[in-house]
Amino acid sequence: MSLKENLAKVRERMERACQRANRDPESVVLVAVSKNQSADRVAEAVDCGLTLFGENRVQEAKTKIPLSPGPTRWHFIGHLQSNKARDAASLFDMIQSVDSLELGAELQKQAEKQARTLRVMLEVNVAGESSKFGWHPEKVLAELSAFNQFNRLELHGLMTVAPYSTEAEKVRPVFRRLRELRDRCADQLGAPLPELSMGMSGDLEVAIEEGATLVRIGTALFGPRIRSRDTAEAG
Ligand SMILES: *Cc1c(COP(=O)(O)O)cnc(C)c1O
Repeated sequence: MSLKENLAKVRERMERACQRANRDPESVVLVAVSKNQSADRVAEAVDCGLTLFGENRVQEAKTKIPLSPGPTRWHFIGHLQSNKARDAASLFDMIQSVDSLELGAELQKQAEKQARTLRVMLEVNVAGESSKFGWHPEKVLAELSAFNQFNRLELHGLMTVAPYSTEAEKVRPVFRRLRELRDRCADQLGAPLPELSMGMSGDLEVAIEEGATLVRIGTALFGPRIRSRDTAEAG
């Protein structure tokens, strides 16, 4: 199937889920996850009308982004090593996957050097999987006010990667807990945290029903990835 057909299907799935959940379709944004895809594939996606892309490796994005036809926006969605924070801060419009206070401090430093503010989200390891990066839910609440001191970082919301399951319904509690945690964080900050990045190719409907504002879709758009040494969260 062509990218165009895949995109139509994904959009339809998103719209149906919005209808079921009584949500405005405009309230959910599609992030096309272009990791492992060539710049040519990205250009094809841009031709289909996609403008927002997600990448999980800084090195790959660094070569791909300049080759991609504009106007595009890029979100970082993988584990970010501190020594790549400088490049990430200049390449990406949003770092969705800030997973520690230390990384926050490094991004703050780089944003200061680049005299800019950086849009970020906190990645939460809701299910506490040892194979995944991200904040433990209680730790987010404990460290939120410290994080809020980073005045160059603009906190937009929370992100999670749900445990893999062939039954999307099984991950509903994970998405629900991220939404509830987001609400508690917003309460604590006394400021809204509008974004919830959750839902991938297999479970976007459930994520939208539970309040996702950003869904990160790779396989359902581009087809199966050629898996090399990459894992879902490779830096
Ligand atoms: C690869 C990846 C996705 C996309 O997953 P698909 O199942 O291919 O849609 C989403 N989020 C993150 C963090 C990823 O690494």
